Amino acid sequence: MNHSPDNFNYRSLFDLNNDAILIINLSGEIQNGNAASEKVIGYSLSEMQNQAFISFIEDKEQARRCFADMMSGIKTDTNIQLLHKNGKRINCLVKCIPLDKSDIKKGLFLALKDMTEYDSLMNKYHQSELFFKIIAENVQDVILLMNEHREYLYVSPSVEGMFGYDKKTVEGMLQQDPFFYNHPDYSEQLNQVYIDSRKTGKPFQIIIKILHKVNGWIWTEVKGTPVFDEEDNFRQMVLVASDISMQKEMQEKLEYYAYHDPLTGLPNRRYFEKCLTESIEKLNLTEQFFSLILFDIDDFKTVNDTWGHEIGDQVIQEVARRTRQVIGEEGIAARLGGDEFIVLLYRCDNEEALKEVIQKLQNIMLEEIVTEKTSIAITNSIGATICTTKYMSETYYFKSADVALYEVKHEGKNQYHINNS
Ligand code: GH3
Ligand code: MG
Repeated sequence: MNHSPDNFNYRSLFDLNNDAILIINLSGEIQNGNAASEKVIGYSLSEMQNQAFISFIEDKEQARRCFADMMSGIKTDTNIQLLHKNGKRINCLVKCIPLDKSDIKKGLFLALKDMTEYDSLMNKYHQSELFFKIIAENVQDVILLMNEHREYLYVSPSVEGMFGYDKKTVEGMLQQDPFFYNHPDYSEQLNQVYIDSRKTGKPFQIIIKILHKVNGWIWTEVKGTPVFDEEDNFRQMVLVASDISMQKEMQEKLEYYAYHDPLTGLPNRRYFEKCLTESIEKLNLTEQFFSLILFDIDDFKTVNDTWGHEIGDQVIQEVARRTRQVIGEEGIAARLGGDEFIVLLYRCDNEEALKEVIQKLQNIMLEEIVTEKTSIAITNSIGATICTTKYMSETYYFKSADVALYEVKHEGKNQYHINNS
């Protein structure tokens, strides 16, 4: 069948057009149509010819109004729902063009664009946007989207829960300075990982401090993923910020207990060994002598046996407190275990100075310890050593103090011995 309109010079434009084109007379009847119109509406041209165009439209009332508007030239574009022969509704965008530009009364061209594919694409787009919104607005982490000019395109509302500020305030401040809420100590590092990530295309992960409206600086882990377009140009940085203050607190606690004695709060053997190593290195490098004082409570088992373990614990705690008080900033005191303590005096390099500290320790320990149940007097045996020999191991100096202590215990306790090592 020849679909071409009479006297039509642009035949292929009509015949081969992907959009349906119908020619409608003044009564609204279809006179002619191209191949695409048969496809879009589902009827053959001969089935459609001389049929009212509105008979192929779902909402007749709307169609009549649109048609009247088109005929009077009020409207040129409209959306309609076509009824396909197979019963399906096809959403079409209709463009109306007078047959003769100078005389609308000759009839109309109707160009119908099948919007099914476009609608489904839009639907998918809206769906994915909705999914993103649901995710971004319901996660606890803060999601931020930054463009190549470091402007924020999106800040998730979770920012209010995590950092205490309202979203508007945050957006305003970030406009002035994209890293406004970050602690200045981490600015350079953050800037560097951002630049590197843009350059290499690799995601980054950094732990920084971010300002909370009420709680001050809070530990935050920021993960950044760079996004590039098809031409490999950097376009956006997706940033996810998570509050890790709880993990940090846990980590700090674990670190504390790894190096401290839970009963007294004093550093433990492990921590002490690190300090001893540092002092040995200093001795080797700068000949800075130092001293060790090792002491053990005399007959402590009797305290436990007489007053119970809890009172024994209180005695150990008090001994630790007094030791700390005597040593102050001059050294470090640690509990090695049981009733045994050790002190490192950073700069104590002669017997006289060492004796002075030992006597202070002895005197303070002589004061009765007041516990819940009773007052207890204790004595200590003390072995000390002045560390002056270079390039020796930790064990060497430890042993020297230990031997001195052993001698005191054997000679009847409550005394001190000083060795040189
Ligand atoms: P010496 O005079 O030779 O030092 O003997 P001592 O009775 O003080 O006993 P020793 O130093 O050999 O052993 C320390 C005792 O301290 C052994 C143990 O029963 C007790 N002890 C170890 N750790 C704790 C603790 O955490 N709390 C309490 N209350 N007692 C402890
Ligand atoms: Mg003891």
